[in-house]
Order: sequence, then structure tokens, then C-alpha cells
Amino acid sequence: MKFDALILKVASRCNLNCSYCFMYNLGDTTYKEQPKFMSYQLIDQILEKTKNYILTYNKKEFSFIFHGGEPLLIDKEFYRKFVYKANKMRLQLSNVTFKYDVQTNGVLINEEWCSLFRELNIYPSISVDGTKKAHDMFRVDHKGKGSYDKVFKSVQILKKEIGYADTVCVINIEENPEKTYLSFKNMNVNSVNFLIPDFTHDTFPFDTSKTSMADWLIQLFDLWIDDIERYQIPMFAGIVNRILGVADQANNESTVLVIETNGEIEAIDSLKACGHGFTKTGMNINTHNFSDIKNSPLGKLYFEDSTTKLNVKCLNCPIKEVCQGGRLVHRFKKENGFNNVSVYCKDLIKLTAHIQNKLMNIFPELYSNEGIDKMNSEEIFNFIQTQDFVSSKYKEDLEYFAK
Ligand code: SF4
Repeated sequence: MKFDALILKVASRCNLNCSYCFMYNLGDTTYKEQPKFMSYQLIDQILEKTKNYILTYNKKEFSFIFHGGEPLLIDKEFYRKFVYKANKMRLQLSNVTFKYDVQTNGVLINEEWCSLFRELNIYPSISVDGTKKAHDMFRVDHKGKGSYDKVFKSVQILKKEIGYADTVCVINIEENPEKTYLSFKNMNVNSVNFLIPDFTHDTFPFDTSKTSMADWLIQLFDLWIDDIERYQIPMFAGIVNRILGVADQANNESTVLVIETNGEIEAIDSLKACGHGFTKTGMNINTHNFSDIKNSPLGKLYFEDSTTKLNVKCLNCPIKEVCQGGRLVHRFKKENGFNNVSVYCKDLIKLTAHIQNKLMNIFPELYSNEGIDKMNSEEIFNFIQTQDFVSSKYKEDLEYFAK
């Protein structure tokens, strides 16, 4: 099992109502059946199962990511109890490091929360979608009011109280990439984890003959790479590292397991965008071990096969090692499950080609001895269209998830 982090859904409700949210607004309504908060009783079960997992798979690092809904809706005492018990349990394990993260919408951040983060060594990350215009387009409260002004202040509180501000941004291509890049500089953040919006082939809203996402990201990349005072962008660092072959090829997506507020064990919750109840496995922390997830078809695909069991075009794609077929949710189509290239395939090819070509300009000596030509994204795209042979059994496995 390659996962080394748990996403703990400590609250199943949210004080915002973001229109693109996969928890509430992309077709899965199972959150309504969840308790509002994770119970204190589940802490012992989670830690017991974590200990067994670490011992069985000899893990040296393990992360707990507090998530929701909005994780700051649960009381502070929950965090104290969890971290205290986890640190105590860690003493029974040799040479294992624990890390605690919280992914928040930022609305409730104040000095008291920062003090708790310092006390428990919890690393917060705030969701901000760049400019006020982009952010308030989707990240609204239950009355439809934008949350940007509050969140902007929260980022400043984090900088002052704990000395850094990490953020997550869902890309909004209706906003200008330069304005987006500069808005985060204006906030003085340390990092921005840009995320491509979660759409399946059934819900993709963009013109498929165009490459709007790639064009947007290319502008952002060029600003970033040329800026000597750049903040960190993990998406670009990941692509650069994979192109240069200096990074583990593992797909980060499959390194987390989700525990719902009632203890249910699930694969990553972005897959909720595939439909109502899609991520349900029928497994619960009270009755199952973490590794049982690979006995469910979705768990097996997600944890064991997500970078190898790919559509035939991806299998033969010249940039497969960099792209790895894209994220699972982006491959899904009701008609044939995961037997597809990413809905962003054309964008991924264009972006990767651009970054590789840019790196060749920056580090000519790295490439000159290898006889490598610059990449032509049209050529790659036309080549993968010719790839279509695959055995029927292989096809069946990927199409098992068709609805
Ligand atoms: S670029 Fe397209 S064909 Fe290539 S691996 Fe990614 S999704 Fe598959």
C-alpha cells in the first residue's frame, strides 16, 4: 500500500457553499447521511488502525490531514485530544514521523486558532482562488456572499501569527493568469497549490477543440519561472521534476485514504464528482483495516492501478511518465468508466511540451548531448489518436465503473 496520509473528515458540513464543491454540489449527496462531526470515540479506532498499518507496511512518515466540510467547525478540544493521543501512540513506534495538516476555507481563522496550530504543530493551508473576482465567483456563503475579504485577512493573520501562509487555488480561467499570479504575491503567500477543476467527460464545460486550460497555465508558468522572487507552485515543481527525472514517479493523488465523519473508509473524495455514492466502499474503520480498501474495485484501481491501468492512448503516450494519465476523476465517463484519456489530455500535452521546451532553453547543456528534439504537442496528440488496440479483458476492467 503506497498511501502515507489520512484525510480525516472531522466535519461533514461547511460554513461556505462553493458552487464547484465536490462534497455538496457535484452530484453526490451522501454527506446528508453523515454525522455533522467526527466523534471522539473514533480517535482511538483510527489511531489503532494507523499503528497496525505503519507496522505492517514499515512506514517512516505518516500525515494526518484534517479536512471537511470545514474542519474548523469542530471544537478545538478534538484537535488537542487527537494530537495528544497520536503523539503518545507514536512513542510505541520506532523512528516514525507524524505530520499534521489542516485544509480550511479560512473563514474562521483567528489568533486563537493560530495559537492552537502552534501548540500542536498543525500546518494550516487556506483555500483562496486568486483574485477577489475569481474567488467570489464560486466561494460564497449560504446567502451567496463572497468570502474573499475575510479570507484575505485570514492569510495576513497566519503570516503574522505563525510566519507562513500556504494556499490552495482552484484555477478559474475566466480570470487573467497574470492578475491571479500577482494577487498571491500581494497576499505574500509562501505557496499556492493550483488545482485543475474537477470535471468528468460528462460535465466538462469547456470547448474541447481548444486548449484554454493549457494556455492559461502556460502564461502562469512563464511568469513563475521568470520571477526570481517566486512563491512555490507544487504543480509546476512536480512537472519539472518528472521531466528531469529527479522525482519519484508516484502519482500523489493515490497517497491518501479518506476517513469519513462516521468512520467509513473511502478513496479520494474528488471522485464524488463521478456520481452519487461513487466513493462508497461499504468499509468502516470499526470493522476493517486500511488495506482492506484494495479489495474494493475502486480502491484497487485507485491505490494499485491508477498510474498503470490506463486507456490505451495513455499507455502509448510519449509523455506518460510525466502525465500518468491525469487525475482519475478527469478520466471518468458514465458510458465507459475510466477507459478514457483525461478530459484535459490536449491541455496536459501542450503544457508539458511547453515546460520541456522552456527547460531546454534554460539548461541547453542538459539536452545537447542527448540529441533530444523540442516537443511538438500537435504531433503527440495526432500520434495518440492512432493508438486503439487493447484486449477485451483489459477494456472490461476499466469499463467496470460505467454507470
Ligand atoms: S497526455 Fe493524454 S494520452 Fe498522454 S498520458 Fe496524459 S491523458 Fe493520457
